[in-house]
Amino acid sequence: MARGTIVIETDHCKGCELCTTVCPQDVLVMGDFFNARGYKPAMLVDPEGKCTGCALCAVICPDAVITVYRLPNVAKMSRAPLAVASAMAA
Ligand code: SF4
Ligand code: SF4
Repeated sequence: MARGTIVIETDHCKGCELCTTVCPQDVLVMGDFFNARGYKPAMLVDPEGKCTGCALCAVICPDAVITVYRLPNVAKMSRAPLAVASAMAA
C-alpha cells in the first residue's frame, strides 16, 4: 500500500474539521490547544504510519493549509540492489 504523510500549517487552520471527516485512515484529529487565530487546529496522529498520501484531506481543506508527501515505495527500492547483485553474479 502507498505510504505518505502530511504537514498542516497549524497556525492557519480554522478548525472546521472537514479534513477529519474524509480521511480513510482516520489519522486526523482536532488538537486540544488554540492556534494563533484562536482555533483548535487539526493534527496528524499517525504512530503506525497509516497515512497513504491519498490527499483527500488537502483537497477538501478550504484554506489549503495541508501539504501531502508521498513516500517512496520501500519494497521496490529494497529489491533493486538484489537485482543488480544477481546480474553481477551471473
Ligand atoms: S493524505 Fe489521506 S490518509 Fe493521509 S491524512 Fe490525508 S486523508 Fe488521511
Ligand atoms: S480542513 Fe483545513 S482548515 Fe479545516 S480543520 Fe482541516 S486543516 Fe483545518
